Amino acid sequence: MKRLLSGIKPSGDLNIGGYGGALRQYVKLQHDYESFFFIPDYHAVTVYQDPKELHERTRDVAALYLAAGIDPGRSTIFLQSQVPAHTELGWLLETQAHFGELKRMTQFKEKSEGKDVVSSALFTYPVLMAADVLLYQATHVPVGDDQKQHLELTRDVAERFNKRFGLTFTLPEPIIQDIGSRIMGLDDPGKKMSKSNPNQNSCVLLMDSPDDIRRKFSKAVTDSEGQVRHDWEQKPAVSNLIEIYSVFADEEIAVIERRYEGQGYGVFKKELAEVVIQKLLPIQDKYRQLVDSSELDRILIDGAKRAADVASDTLLAAKKAMGFVTF
Ligand code: ATP
Ligand code: MG
Repeated sequence: MKRLLSGIKPSGDLNIGGYGGALRQYVKLQHDYESFFFIPDYHAVTVYQDPKELHERTRDVAALYLAAGIDPGRSTIFLQSQVPAHTELGWLLETQAHFGELKRMTQFKEKSEGKDVVSSALFTYPVLMAADVLLYQATHVPVGDDQKQHLELTRDVAERFNKRFGLTFTLPEPIIQDIGSRIMGLDDPGKKMSKSNPNQNSCVLLMDSPDDIRRKFSKAVTDSEGQVRHDWEQKPAVSNLIEIYSVFADEEIAVIERRYEGQGYGVFKKELAEVVIQKLLPIQDKYRQLVDSSELDRILIDGAKRAADVASDTLLAAKKAMGFVTF
């Protein structure tokens, strides 16, 4: 049975980068895999989170999972902090991960750059991520391009553990889609669109109003060529906008290029905004119905139970393999 695990941190308001690179894929993949979609709230706190905001955003992400189309009857949806096996296995795996390999993680370098202090959890977070994946014996992990290196670390740590203590963990494969795996900021196509980017004009949020979406796309940087043409080398900003269009309209890039041939950026950006709005409005409506509902609580409580059943088996196997006394 093919099994999948993935999640989006409640570290900020969800944007179309997370939708294109993660959520949209989740909705499709749940039909082909036994799926676990979790909310990595313990990962979010590797950088400071205001407690009230963390609380609200955790519910937001869960409600958006459902609103976007993840089916709780088919997939398991749960909060990481509700399943203690994650931090327990995380600790065990920290004994297998190397300081040197964690130092090479580019995301740590990016997120710690220019900061006076960073938490030690930000440094070890990829090991907790390895635990997240390995606990469920996931065969596949859908990720954006930025998480590829962390998944390689997961495989390395699992392989090391298996060699030393006997076969315990399944080695997971990444699923990285061609289009939408790396949606860049609207103000700077050299930087990934990210929840923790404080520049509001760089991201379109899933909960933005139609007017905000129109304004943000109209301000998005382009280039001076004036042609809607996909070419990451020469035209990164326009290529990014075309990919966003492709993700939201579910259309091939070539079809989009042909449609806007000779039309300039004004019309293209206007219609891009409408394509995104049309996709987001029904998701926003469902989100509002769900976010404060007891149905959401029930789904998360039930999900944590189902997740804990699977996770506790793996944790016990890992502890036994390492020689801990278990009863
Ligand atoms: P943070 O800035 O706090 O790290 P984030 O926006 O990077 O937040 P994550 O929760 O770290 O979001 O990532 C959730 C998933 O979304 C991951 O699989 C990640 O690869 C994917 N993802 C995040 N940003 C993008 C993006 N701009 N384009 C495509 N995929 C993305
Ligand atoms: Mg991230």
